[in-house]
Amino acid sequence: MARNIGSHYTTERVLGRGSAGTVWLGEGPEGPVAVKVLREDLAADPELVERFAHERHTLLGLEHPHVVGVRELVLAEDGKDLALVMDLVRGPDLRTHLTRARRLAPHEAVTVVAGVASGLAVAHAAGIVHRDVKPENILLDTSGPEPVALLTDFGVAQLIDEPRQGTAGRVVGTPDYIAPEIIEGLPSRAPVDIYALATVLYELLAGFTPFGGGHTGAVLRRHVTETAAPLPGLPPELWELLQQCLAKAPASRLRAAELASRLREILPALDGLPPLDIESDHEPSPAPVEEPAEETPADHDGPRGAVPLVRGAAPDSERVTHTRMRVPDAEELAGGAHGTARL
Ligand code: ADP
Repeated sequence: MARNIGSHYTTERVLGRGSAGTVWLGEGPEGPVAVKVLREDLAADPELVERFAHERHTLLGLEHPHVVGVRELVLAEDGKDLALVMDLVRGPDLRTHLTRARRLAPHEAVTVVAGVASGLAVAHAAGIVHRDVKPENILLDTSGPEPVALLTDFGVAQLIDEPRQGTAGRVVGTPDYIAPEIIEGLPSRAPVDIYALATVLYELLAGFTPFGGGHTGAVLRRHVTETAAPLPGLPPELWELLQQCLAKAPASRLRAAELASRLREILPALDGLPPLDIESDHEPSPAPVEEPAEETPADHDGPRGAVPLVRGAAPDSERVTHTRMRVPDAEELAGGAHGTARL
């Protein structure tokens, strides 16, 4: 049923549901838009509403061909709904596309990631860190002759997570894409986005993330202690870039602008290469039993449950990839089959 959001927009039907709220197809004075209505518990949090108002400028100011534009932040008239009015992207998100394709050809994967890297470069130059780069937050505009990748949800992770940052021992993010320094309790600066984007590139090429699979604690430990398994058949210069951007030390990673230009330099050499033919030992293993995620009071109205972290588990569009996690202590990180932690 159509309903009004602020005085200029109406919503028509649900386009998708995410961790922070529901995205609607809407209509505004300048035509169709996407309206993300934040979850009620978030909209009811006065601190968060204030922060939204405060960050308004930053969010609205970010304009780039590879970033989904935010046109307005609306606090609906009844005082209940908090909504972000965005440019409507006509096409699937990268998760859906990857699920259909299983793996992307290197040229397509690198084109997508180079675009996103150039969008990140502009954001980082403006002092904005995305903090939740993952395939679900990359939308593909398929309305033109070539699909265009656009990064969405800028600032949303940051705005929503901040009230809980003070909670000792907790990090918020998506375990498969989370940079080692966050796990070690350091602040999220621009290199966390580079690490997450390199993880996305690896996943597009391989069909699985380098450190995903199994229990959240195991995923976190691998980020800190393991190196990514090489991808057979990948041109060495591309593998080198991937490794550099998956470096444990944030300062060793490339900056976004450099990553974008290096990827674009490599592109011609990738033309015509088929998707990688990954050996069976890299293939998905049978799904281990998932553990229920810890629940916090803030979880009550939101998505909950275990994060499907299983390498290659049949992804589904409903999957929740944003979770609150307890940071394992040094002893836990050091334990298990994955070697010694550096903590
Ligand atoms: P998440 O919290 O998982 O990142 P979102 O709430 O951002 O998810 O979005 C949920 C779904 O809504 C997306 O997967 C996508 O299908 C759709 N969507 C989000 N933003 C837009 C947009 N600007 N244009 C079109 N569809 C969108």
